[in-house]
Amino acid sequence: MNPGLGKAWPSLRLALSNRWPRGQISLPRGRWLLWSALVTLLAGLLGLLIFLAHRYEVSALQSRLDAQANDLAASVHDSLMRNLRLFGALNPEQPTVWASQATDLLLQRPEMVRIEWRGEQMQLRLSQDAPGRSAPFGRLARAHSEADVKLSCSAALRFGTPTFSSSYFVLQEDGRGMELMDLCIPRKEAGVLTGYTVVSYSLGEILARGPGARLAQGQSLAFTDPDGTRLAIHGQLGEGGRQYTSRPLVDLPGNTLVLRLDTMQERPTLLPQPLTALVAALAAALSAVLTLLVRDMRRRQQVEQELADALAFRKAMENSLSTGLRARDLQGQITYVNPAFCRMVGFEAGELLLPGDAVPYWPPELAPTYKARQQDRYNNTAALRGGHESLFMRSDGTRFPVLIMEAPLINAQGKHTGWMSAVLDISEQKRAEELSRASQERLQAAARLAMVGEMASLLSHELNQPLAAIASYANGSINLLQDDQGRQAGAAPDHLHSDLLEALRRIGGQAERAGRVIRSVHDFVRRRDQRRESVPARDLVEAIMPLLALQARKLDVQLRIDLRADAPPVVCDRTMVEQVLLNLARNAMQAMQQDCEPLRELDLQVRPSSLNGRVWVEFSVSDVGHGINDEVARQLFTPFFTTKEEGMGLGLSLCRTVVEQHGGALHFQPRQPRGTTFKFTLPAGTGRLPP
Ligand code: ADP
Repeated sequence: MNPGLGKAWPSLRLALSNRWPRGQISLPRGRWLLWSALVTLLAGLLGLLIFLAHRYEVSALQSRLDAQANDLAASVHDSLMRNLRLFGALNPEQPTVWASQATDLLLQRPEMVRIEWRGEQMQLRLSQDAPGRSAPFGRLARAHSEADVKLSCSAALRFGTPTFSSSYFVLQEDGRGMELMDLCIPRKEAGVLTGYTVVSYSLGEILARGPGARLAQGQSLAFTDPDGTRLAIHGQLGEGGRQYTSRPLVDLPGNTLVLRLDTMQERPTLLPQPLTALVAALAAALSAVLTLLVRDMRRRQQVEQELADALAFRKAMENSLSTGLRARDLQGQITYVNPAFCRMVGFEAGELLLPGDAVPYWPPELAPTYKARQQDRYNNTAALRGGHESLFMRSDGTRFPVLIMEAPLINAQGKHTGWMSAVLDISEQKRAEELSRASQERLQAAARLAMVGEMASLLSHELNQPLAAIASYANGSINLLQDDQGRQAGAAPDHLHSDLLEALRRIGGQAERAGRVIRSVHDFVRRRDQRRESVPARDLVEAIMPLLALQARKLDVQLRIDLRADAPPVVCDRTMVEQVLLNLARNAMQAMQQDCEPLRELDLQVRPSSLNGRVWVEFSVSDVGHGINDEVARQLFTPFFTTKEEGMGLGLSLCRTVVEQHGGALHFQPRQPRGTTFKFTLPAGTGRLPP
């Protein structure tokens, strides 16, 4: 498990559990308010609907009653107006005929209780009461209602139409009363008023005969005063329920009657009424839907919460991973990268997800190879599992090695939609490998060096004797030759003798020099205190000149020595420094040797320099050879590194060690237009240093 993820895990769990305590979902306050408002609104709406439906039922009942009452009023009006035609047939000229005609009429129309014929001065001439019933004016004289009759007759005469009087109460002989209304019809012959026919109607009978028959059970019908006082009534009002009343007018000429129809109806209960029931059913359905909706909401919230949990977990995991994750679609286009991948390559996710062929973290020079390799791998998915190494480029242009493990990306439907890769930065791993390889090599080199050291000290020990012998033989030979020359004193100088003497002196000198070199190397290998002395720079150069000149002649190299006069003496182990100079010069000549360049020049310069407040002597050896490429430069001072067939690869590493042991530094630089310059510095000094 990733250590970063391990650390992030408890805090992630804490964060998630703080946000949504397990097993309970709390709605945010705003959402509660919304839901309460919705429920209240719906309840209000449903209440209003039920109330309106109820009111509609009540008004429908009232409308039906009004329609019935208007119908009854119209029938009363029509029947009274129709009766008018009947009175024209009455013939007052013949009283007996008139009486029988009037009797017939009274029998046919029981609502009429009396018919009178009056003269033009309203004086009563003939009268006929309804047969079979007590006379209406039997108890109370007709004179009491005379004013009403006269009033209606004068109005009838004035307007030329039959006119009804206002109603009046007449006490009957049986103690009960009767509400009567008179109708006055002026009679004219040849335009001259001959008298009036006055008909008395019983309001009670009008109700009973005409509309009374059409009343429903529990209904009552009445004529009322404008102030509501009942004048005549028919029917028995039912009990219980709500009373509905309708008051249509019966508009008669001269009088307007108020008809009042009452009925008792059960108050429409909420449910049995179809409309109310329908509304209530709708409300119930709506409530059920609302409940289901709320439940669905809660379930949805739960799913949302689980999704958010999963998402937060995934995000935390992605962020804490140190492995880079990258997804590609089937066309190779990057569709997803995690933060670790972005950190690794130094690009923003947005820059990596840009459509197009260019992949920003591919080194441009390798992009075509990578493209082809990617195609190959996608064609051969079996090869994907193992993983492969590659080289990526950061946004700053630096390259770094990575290990990529790739697998096909399969979606929830089992469809192959792309490729998923885990990318590991293996720079550290590579560096560690490189370090271990280098230290391994150093160990081997050190072991070989130690062996060389042993060999060198063995050789120096073994060679000392023969060299000493060579030197003493040379000295002996010189002595012999000089003695021989002494004996032949006076003879002409022999050239052979003198050449031999010189050669033998050189042999002796070189044998001594070889002995010194061997001693110095021995001391160097044994790390004994080297003998440091202050040596003029010129002496150092001159000491190696014979050997240098010899080699230069052999290799056809032109030597140029530039020794600055102000160069101070050098504090050093002169033999070792001479070896360093010799080594550098030999390398320089060999570098020019491999080349067909006709110009072969070696420059040896000595000049003073200063660094860190100290005076140094700088030696430089320059050639016009093939130069040093990067590959060689990296390993130049590594022991046993050589590009020559017969080389040992120890020269430069020894030179550097010698120079550094003196406190100086050895380095090289390319020379223009070609070749290389090796430079080293040695501390300047005067006089001999104490050992
Ligand atoms: P060796 O001379 O035995 O090869 P050195 O340590 O002296 O060992 O040199 C190591 C290598 O460095 C040589 O093999 C050669 O390739 C390279 N080299 C040294 N000096 C020069 C130079 N002046 N020009 C070009 N290459 C050089």
